[in-house]
Amino acid sequence: MEKIKSKGYAMFSKDGPFRPYEFERHAVGDNDILIKIMYAGICHSDIHQARSEWNEKEHYPMVPGHEIVGQVIQVGKNVTKFKVGDYAGVGCMVNSCKDPNCETCRHNREQECVDAVFTYASKDKFHGGEITQGGYSNNIVISEEFAIKVPADADFEKVAPLLCAGITTYSPIQFSKVRKGDKVAVAGFGGLGHMAVQYLVRIGADVTVFDVSEEKREVAMKMGAKEFVDVSKSPNFYKDHLNEFYFILSTIPAKYDMSAYLRMLKFGGEFAIVGLPATKNLPSISLNSFVFTPNRKIYGSMIGGIKETQEMLDYSVENNIYPKVKIIKGTPDEVAKQITEAYNTIVNGEVQFRFVIDMRNL
Ligand SMILES: [Zn+2]
Ligand SMILES: [Zn+2]
Repeated sequence: MEKIKSKGYAMFSKDGPFRPYEFERHAVGDNDILIKIMYAGICHSDIHQARSEWNEKEHYPMVPGHEIVGQVIQVGKNVTKFKVGDYAGVGCMVNSCKDPNCETCRHNREQECVDAVFTYASKDKFHGGEITQGGYSNNIVISEEFAIKVPADADFEKVAPLLCAGITTYSPIQFSKVRKGDKVAVAGFGGLGHMAVQYLVRIGADVTVFDVSEEKREVAMKMGAKEFVDVSKSPNFYKDHLNEFYFILSTIPAKYDMSAYLRMLKFGGEFAIVGLPATKNLPSISLNSFVFTPNRKIYGSMIGGIKETQEMLDYSVENNIYPKVKIIKGTPDEVAKQITEAYNTIVNGEVQFRFVIDMRNL
């Protein structure tokens, strides 16, 4: 079977910059589809991985990107979910064991499977141990079970970030069963946070936003937040909100005072963590805080399974919930340069809110 030729944008070392890069992907197997990528979002995790900030094994050249949308241009002979011309999305993973005896795969939580293959910089044991390459590229081959169906009336420029930023925030909101009228908070109003606010407002929750940038106040309020707190103004910002929230979602990708957020939860409240700071910049919390702020729960959440990702995508398109995006396009050299610059903008916390790379002319 013939390998697939791909063009993309890669980092060649942890210091960058991005440069155009040509590589090969595995052939389209009987259960696979080939997607011509239209758009790929830039996620903060891409930056951590590309800059090797999670102390993981380094794989360069690295083509990041796990927020992908495109059109199906080839299908394997056993494929039933897609036909040529359909639109498809790819998120953070491209495979898992799918063994009926696997506890996590059986419960539609493939992201936890010990054999899960992530979309880039991940060893793919189902394809001879090749290292996966992500969505900052013109195409991708994926098993149909791991591709998400995207309705033809979706807003394609904006749909890609749903595949990571969307599911990452949608999933804990479902897990904590947030309901209409609940007092809830979102900490960090960036790529993830502004998705969370939209889902929570849609449910009818009463949403407070915490962020370090006064400039984001207006957008947060426009999206339906009831209150915006600029935490950079005072380290005691939490004292006006003690024992108040049923649910707090932290998307903060840097060091912060976790106990402040714990103290804002009410009895039985739940604090969900989805932000992933660099390893050298991890927040921590004193064990005693759990006792002095009793009967509150803290848990982490990582994307969502394929079934829930499909539910999230259908729900988002139906309810017109999309990220705010800034499109990167131009010649391959210009795009490479703009991705490199976008990374710096995101790290500086200046972004409003998701960069999306236009891959259609690559
Ligand atoms: Zn992501
Ligand atoms: Zn499994």
